[in-house]
Amino acid sequence: MNDAALLVVAAFLFGLPIYFLPTFVAVSRGHRNTVAIFLLNFFLGWLLVGWVGALVWAVIATEDKYGSNKRRRDRDSEPTPFDPLPEPAPVPVYAVPALVPYTCPHCGYMVRIPPAMVGAMVTCGTCRHPFHATPPAY
Ligand SMILES: [Zn+2]
Repeated sequence: MNDAALLVVAAFLFGLPIYFLPTFVAVSRGHRNTVAIFLLNFFLGWLLVGWVGALVWAVIATEDKYGSNKRRRDRDSEPTPFDPLPEPAPVPVYAVPALVPYTCPHCGYMVRIPPAMVGAMVTCGTCRHPFHATPPAY
């Protein structure tokens, strides 16, 4: 084997992976147009514009954001239309002042009055007699 033939073989061996780089990129990315990229690469790759075109085609995303052409890591972080609704925010529970229980001195029924009425004259809802709601002694 002479030097020229050796050079051709070497160029072929080293050039072939570079020549089919667009196809390798498309295959490794799981591109949906892998076959078309291979055909463009195979038939027009010897033209620089065909090779570059195939490489660019292999690199760009051609699917929508839910398609299979994106990397799984990117796809998983995006919401899909089938994701469950987010958890509803908890409804804040505001403190409601508790009613203060009093025993009516006239009829003995339990009367509950708002805290703002403590210390004032209140009317029993049962016997209608007024009495002084003395503040509770703690
Ligand atoms: Zn009463």
